Amino acid sequence: MNSSILVMGYDVERYMSPEDRMSSLQGVKKIIALHRAYHAPFTFFMLGKLLEYDDYVAELKKELALAGDLADIQQHTYSHPLLKVNERYMREKNRKPLSVSEIDAEIKKANHIIESKLGVKVFGLKTPIGFHKGLQGEKAILDVLKKNGMRFVSSDLVGKGDHPPALLEEDGKLRQHYVYENGLTEVPTHGWHDTHILLKNMSPYKGVKEACAYYQNELSKAHNKGMMYAPNLHPFIYSDRDHDPQASIVETFLSFAKANKIPVMSYAGYVEHIQKKSNP
Ligand SMILES: [Zn+2]
Repeated sequence: MNSSILVMGYDVERYMSPEDRMSSLQGVKKIIALHRAYHAPFTFFMLGKLLEYDDYVAELKKELALAGDLADIQQHTYSHPLLKVNERYMREKNRKPLSVSEIDAEIKKANHIIESKLGVKVFGLKTPIGFHKGLQGEKAILDVLKKNGMRFVSSDLVGKGDHPPALLEEDGKLRQHYVYENGLTEVPTHGWHDTHILLKNMSPYKGVKEACAYYQNELSKAHNKGMMYAPNLHPFIYSDRDHDPQASIVETFLSFAKANKIPVMSYAGYVEHIQKKSNP
């Protein structure tokens, strides 16, 4: 019998201009303040490139020190490339996926910069963009990830045809973690990403209020099914100038979890939890 779990993670990206980095940092601060208030663990999937800006790193480290053990750091590649075919995204952006050796270099570079700037050895990757059915059938990519020390990947982030949202249930099966042939664990995410709703206007929900109501309903449904729920969130959405400056979406998740006694975990915490359950 499974019981519901909320897995909280954020893709920390946006490096191009000082304003982008400031937005990311403002979001990071609000997220950390809320997670501290609720004593709730979380994961930051760091984009390697962002850590090339020393002023940003200095501020980020201050915030991470406040978060202490609540924060788990993993990677979001070095430069946000596409790792495999995503028909929808490739059509829209006219971009091609990397070769396996280019993927190897991206993952290595992100590992290296995160370790040298933040002193953390990562073992998990959130892929940019995401794919329906994640990296299933991509043995060469999965082996490169494993060779670079990854124990889990979060790449199954969209629905059929690579279109969001990623439904709680597809073809009669709950959307939950699974293990690839080479032993890597996939932790899929659920629902519309915050960027799909508030930045790209792709969802039927408009504005922060509807987004919060949507997410609360999603988590409530997941709770009733006794499943793990992992939303796909981005700090810049919660900056002062951006879409949800009060970080109401983050608070919606954390307050609903608290009120309903749903455990909140980071990705690392969740992976450890399921491994303990399978090898008690
Ligand atoms: Zn991203």
